[in-house]
Amino acid sequence: MIHESGNIAVHTENMFPIIKKWLYSDKDIFIRELVSNGCDAINKLKKLVSIGDASVPDDTKYTVKVIFDKEKKTLQFVDNGIGMTAEEVKKYINQVAFSGAEDFLAKYKDKTDEGSQIIGHFGLGFYSAFMVANRVQIDTLSYQPGAENVKWTCSGGMEYELDVSDRSERGTTITLFIAEDSEEFLDEFKLREILVKYCSFLPIEIYLENAKPEKKDDDDKEASEEPKPINETHPLWLKKPMDCTDEEYKKFYSQVFHDFNEPLFWIHLNVDYPFNLKGILYFPKLKHEFESMEGQIKLFSNQVFVADNIKEIIPEFLMLLKGVVDCPDLPLNVSRSFLQNDGYVQKVSAHITKKVADKLSGLFNAERENYNKYWDDIHPFIKYGCIRDNKFYEKVKDIIIYKTINGEYVTLKQYLDKNESKHKNKVFYVTNEKQQAQYINLFKEQGLEAVLLPSTIDSHFVQFLEMKENEVKFNRIDSDISESLKNDDNSDEQAEDKGINESLEKVFKEALKNDKLKIQVEGLKASGMSGMILLSEQSRRMQEMSTMFGGMDMSAMFPEEQTLVLNKNNELIRKVIELKEKPDKKEDVQVICEQVYDLAMMSHKQLDSEAMTKFIERSNKILTKLAEV
Ligand code: ADP
Ligand code: MG
Repeated sequence: MIHESGNIAVHTENMFPIIKKWLYSDKDIFIRELVSNGCDAINKLKKLVSIGDASVPDDTKYTVKVIFDKEKKTLQFVDNGIGMTAEEVKKYINQVAFSGAEDFLAKYKDKTDEGSQIIGHFGLGFYSAFMVANRVQIDTLSYQPGAENVKWTCSGGMEYELDVSDRSERGTTITLFIAEDSEEFLDEFKLREILVKYCSFLPIEIYLENAKPEKKDDDDKEASEEPKPINETHPLWLKKPMDCTDEEYKKFYSQVFHDFNEPLFWIHLNVDYPFNLKGILYFPKLKHEFESMEGQIKLFSNQVFVADNIKEIIPEFLMLLKGVVDCPDLPLNVSRSFLQNDGYVQKVSAHITKKVADKLSGLFNAERENYNKYWDDIHPFIKYGCIRDNKFYEKVKDIIIYKTINGEYVTLKQYLDKNESKHKNKVFYVTNEKQQAQYINLFKEQGLEAVLLPSTIDSHFVQFLEMKENEVKFNRIDSDISESLKNDDNSDEQAEDKGINESLEKVFKEALKNDKLKIQVEGLKASGMSGMILLSEQSRRMQEMSTMFGGMDMSAMFPEEQTLVLNKNNELIRKVIELKEKPDKKEDVQVICEQVYDLAMMSHKQLDSEAMTKFIERSNKILTKLAEV
């Protein structure tokens, strides 16, 4: 018969407020801690049974039950695990921060070779119960033959009582007498939500029960149904990759992330040495082209959910993916700032990065067709990763591909090699296929090639690449392309041509009255095109930057280098040469010049409202003239 009372041995004067306020920022986690203690207790017993140090009936069904009682205002955590003797209660419960888990592992380290699966670490989890309870009671019976049952109670202060319990079955019941300000934790819905969040993949079946269920109608079918556990005890990430089917990966994905689009592909992380890391990372399919990627990486420790998107552990760019990562060596309740400087964490992070890069390289080399297909979905992720993480960039730089205006996918090197004779180390790119359609047509006719870089990330990525590969320069398709457009026969330009060029320049200069505008006359193959605007890459980037910084005008610092290219192979432009000789056609020439400029401008960018108004007025005038009988 045991009866004893005494003082809990702690060195801190007032440790409960510390636990309440500092140790756990989130009240919910007391459920995680108490349920995982139950799982630990069962796993310990299983281990002892497996090595013959304990025996249980063959039909033993291990469970952890969470039972709420709204009337009594209690919440119970009931397991049929290893239980505790009075000595063990004194050792593991009364001594705060003394972990029985660590003790157990040290003792049985050599007897079993498989992963420990024990969640506890620090011997602090149990006391999280006092965040919501003003009294906690333990009723426990150890598995050891002849053990006596024990009752321990403690009312939030520093004193405990040890007594005889009425628990007659092996295992432990923790009863929380819920404090007034925490009665939300007696609500079934709330409890289920928390259990699903933290305990969905714990290794032992967990049930939520109402101590006093409301009477159900006789013909209510649900009442007769078998209760279902909250959790899936064998999460997919713990299986061997070779034993998992595509269907299983897809099902797991839709269940965990509630995403009904199938993932593109996935990476199963499965490391035992030199550290322990399991998980599955999915590359999600983007729903539409410009959707911002928003991933979710769920971090687990020994199947217990810790948190989403912990940036200290998961490389930031990986958070664009969706996935689960289980780091069993990661203590559940350490502070974030500690993690940041932890060598283990950095190794984990580096390993994940490498795995992702390997997977991508594998796809590129072995399944190039598929890789091309995935590209539109995965490129923002890869580009962001490159900008964020130089090691990642080094690993994937040769498998970054670009879609060309001809619908092919090429690497940067392939593009440069192919176009070396026409424009060395220059990459032409399109940011908006519709807006820049004129230029694309022109390029195609001239046998030139450009790549499509339409996404928000691309403008950053272009600058990043220019920094990394300092030989290469990116030019938008409407920038400095005149060099590439020059026909070979231009070299022996005739005197007559020179005269035409000069007079066209003069006419347009006078009509447009724009000092900053450069005019250049070319004989372009695309004879349907009267003119086009070129804006130097440098100027355009400056303009874009100034709009980004709230419309600051930088034109003084960086004068616009706009060029109007006139196509002397175009009939209208040829007509201008004739018309300008006729004094009565002066007004018509003016109208034509303005209209040619606006049309060229429109395929370069949107007209501002004033220019647009003028353009419409002028267009109407031209149409009216056409209608004259
Ligand atoms: P940790 O789990 O990190 O070791 P806890 O504060 O959660 O620390 O628990 C302290 C110790 O109390 C455990 O290591 C274990 O020995 C014992 N214990 C707690 N809950 C139970 C339980 N349900 N069954 C058996 N032992 C338990
Ligand atoms: Mg614990």
